[in-house]
Amino acid sequence: MKLKHTRSEAAFERAQQLIPGGVNSPARAFGGVGGCPVFISRGERQYLFDIDGNRYLDYVGSWGPHILGHRHPVVVAAIQQALATGTSFGAPTESESVLAELVIAAVPSIEKVRMVSSGTEATMSALRVARGFTGRDVIIKFAGCYHGHVDSLLVQAGSGALTLGTPSSPGVPVGCTRDTLVLEYNDVEGLAAAFKQRGNELAALILEPVVGNMGVVIPTPEFLQACRDLCTQYGTVLIFDEVMTGFRISYGGAQAHFGVTPDMTTLGKIVGGGLPVGAYGGRADIMNTVSPVGPVYQAGTLSGNPLAMACGIATLETLKKTNPYAELERKTANLCEGLSQICRVKGIPHTVPHVGSMFTLFFNSEPVTNYQVSARNDTARFARYFHGLLERGIYLPCSQFEANFVGVEHTDENIEQTLASAEAVLGEITGI
Ligand SMILES: *Cc1c(COP(=O)(O)O)cnc(C)c1O
Repeated sequence: MKLKHTRSEAAFERAQQLIPGGVNSPARAFGGVGGCPVFISRGERQYLFDIDGNRYLDYVGSWGPHILGHRHPVVVAAIQQALATGTSFGAPTESESVLAELVIAAVPSIEKVRMVSSGTEATMSALRVARGFTGRDVIIKFAGCYHGHVDSLLVQAGSGALTLGTPSSPGVPVGCTRDTLVLEYNDVEGLAAAFKQRGNELAALILEPVVGNMGVVIPTPEFLQACRDLCTQYGTVLIFDEVMTGFRISYGGAQAHFGVTPDMTTLGKIVGGGLPVGAYGGRADIMNTVSPVGPVYQAGTLSGNPLAMACGIATLETLKKTNPYAELERKTANLCEGLSQICRVKGIPHTVPHVGSMFTLFFNSEPVTNYQVSARNDTARFARYFHGLLERGIYLPCSQFEANFVGVEHTDENIEQTLASAEAVLGEITGI
């Protein structure tokens, strides 16, 4: 049964000599589960193939973008067509307006939008615009939310309400995080207290409207509404970081799903369909502070890149036309109910939150509502579960603190096969 990984092991050995940790983004390095990352040779629909020739059913989807699966024919054709005209011009193209129009039509809060090249760039720019627009400096983020590797947002999670942020990465000057308040997700009282104390200094409140980056954590309706109401009351810009949830939870993102409209929204992942695209947008009066209309500077040599625009346009048009969201939700719910059933029978403490096609199987007996609870997950059990499934040809995110994604190419048979494998692996772990 054991899969062969000798080529991946050699490739990882070589990469570690050349690239810090052998990876260009730390989440890929299997740090949370141990062992050697598998090196990929190609993707096809819902499957990944590694350089040793093993095939995996993919629940990572490049950490979000591949809701349509790998190498969707419409997407491939669009990129090929764009490639025939050139890769980058540093001058406007009509494709930028096509993607902007699709984004504005889809996302309730966005009246004007600027394209960038990553989610990090999107959140960094949105914060600058919110600060420029309000003339204020202080921002609120929530423990366990990830908004890219922006200095002012890389703040240590976990400490209590209103604790001034301390940098969680060496290299981030204390000055960069002095104006970042870190609060606990889903804590309406803590949020209200923070606004009462500092509301008139607050430029922005930024959050993942469904968290994916401490595993899937779902907001209570009261919490999302409190975010909206307090921001309105104090003139603070409410930013939904929908880099993960945009075009994932619904075509209009979490804001369309929950019916709560922020002032600004950041996008990434699916909006680029697998090429590097991020975007930030919002109310026209706020976005008109951006250069060259207004004084807030933000720029990018490769922003609005024609290949990336073509890939994003093909992805969004396909999603719009096929509207797969109800079907995605059905498959995801079946998978999560099945996992929960297996855990119940084997007496494994667990909870499996899911929204749309995002889910996490937490090895935790409590409902995971915030970072403090998520920090109590059984990560050792997760590591065994992860490797057990990998050896059975199922590729999950290599950390307990990540969202898993179901895509349009996942079949009901794939879901059944995943459940059978999960049952076998959890059986080995528990001896039940
Ligand atoms: C992935 C992610 C980011 C960062 O995007 P990058 O493209 O990796 O820079 C920001 N916010 C959220 C919610 C994300 O999931």
